[in-house]
Amino acid sequence: MKRTHTCGELRKSDVGKDALLLGWVNIRRDHGKLLFIDLRDRYGITQVLFDSKILPSSKSLHSEDLIAVKGKVNERPEGSINGKIATGEVELFVEKFFLLGKSKELPFEISGKSKVAEDSRLLYRYLDLRRPIMQERIILRYRVIKSIRGYLDQKNFLEIETPILTKSTPEGARDYLVPSRISPGKFFALPQSPQLFKQLLMIAGIDKYFQIARCFRDEDLRADRQPEHTQLDLEFSFVTPGHIFSIIEEMLSLLFEKFLSLKLSLPFPRLKYADAISRYGSDKPDLRKEKKENFCFVWVEQFPLFQYNKEEKRLESEHHPFTSPMEEDVPLLEKEPLKVRANAYDLVLNGEEIGGGSIRIHQRELQERIFEMIGLSREDYLSKFGFLLDALEYGAPPHGGIALGLDRLLMFITGADSIREVIAFPKAGDGSCPLTGAPSEILPEQLKDLSLKVDKKEIK
Ligand code: ASP
Repeated sequence: MKRTHTCGELRKSDVGKDALLLGWVNIRRDHGKLLFIDLRDRYGITQVLFDSKILPSSKSLHSEDLIAVKGKVNERPEGSINGKIATGEVELFVEKFFLLGKSKELPFEISGKSKVAEDSRLLYRYLDLRRPIMQERIILRYRVIKSIRGYLDQKNFLEIETPILTKSTPEGARDYLVPSRISPGKFFALPQSPQLFKQLLMIAGIDKYFQIARCFRDEDLRADRQPEHTQLDLEFSFVTPGHIFSIIEEMLSLLFEKFLSLKLSLPFPRLKYADAISRYGSDKPDLRKEKKENFCFVWVEQFPLFQYNKEEKRLESEHHPFTSPMEEDVPLLEKEPLKVRANAYDLVLNGEEIGGGSIRIHQRELQERIFEMIGLSREDYLSKFGFLLDALEYGAPPHGGIALGLDRLLMFITGADSIREVIAFPKAGDGSCPLTGAPSEILPEQLKDLSLKVDKKEIK
């Protein structure tokens, strides 16, 4: 049973041909002796026609049954041409059909436009993803990522995977931890970002790196946050922020032109953090009104290097501790640390941060000073980041990079109103996965293997 065409493929030029289509019953229209079905697959919809010889009872086919139909391609009679679909000039007159998969009664309508509760959509995500709007988004996501890869490849970037089971890479959130069975009592951390590995790649001589990277951050839940998200992660050697900005600007303008037919005006405006705060009262200014444009990108740069953590009575990094101070502010480090500006930048789109990065520290001595200033003891920073400090002593190039939140960028490109709309299998608002039931308890044997015990008294 080999399909000859997809459900989006037949045209007037195919009239008279035999075709075999495979698809789901989208909508059925029962006209007594004739049953019309819109047959759907991910490529489109084709109208197929059954008479009572082939299908004695129209009731034997239901929405979302999966069928194979074989027959002749006919031209639709004038008056029944459907200009809204690409196959709208033809229909398939069924001579044989096979029921490949029967569908149970559906928890919600797939072909309809009515709003479905999100918990139900996430529970039956495989049905939700059949809806054409979701298919468009998932396909668009693939195409956007493919275009990014193509563009960066042309610019000589190498896509390199970095480990998922790793050591903590601080980005200001809690780590997701994975206990090690082989080393009882020890844990891997899932990466909050590939930060340290991409820096090591620069030291390894890979001067242009990127990755479509999955990042894991155990944060308190906020609306539209995902415990895991995807970022476009880049790192370059021998760069200034300006080089980084122009690569990102060119890439975004290609994407916006290709996927939204929109011409972005380049270069994006650049605002110093202090000016953003004094002019707009925000480090994420929305310049749409001022510029009179639907999309407004702006670079905000020269953030403070530190902020003061009142509870812990110590300095902490505003970005992350690998960010370099502006060269002219280095003399202020010990005397007036809160005045030191970082060589760090954010990319803001319509008032939302969609990316951020920095030029990094590439000298061991300065990196150690920063660790000390944020209150890490020598013992602490050597045990956490000793490998990075050692690597910095072997001809480390000056380097910097950036990461863009891909899910959020896709939200803008698709016009979706939530990050969950552009992720195939997102977590629900409470961080759980309704479809699989994760997170879930594990078997006592599994805990034993890991030398772990759950303290039930601690569970509220
Ligand atoms: N590692 C940073 C982040 O994930 C981005 C960067 O500095 O390149 O936010």
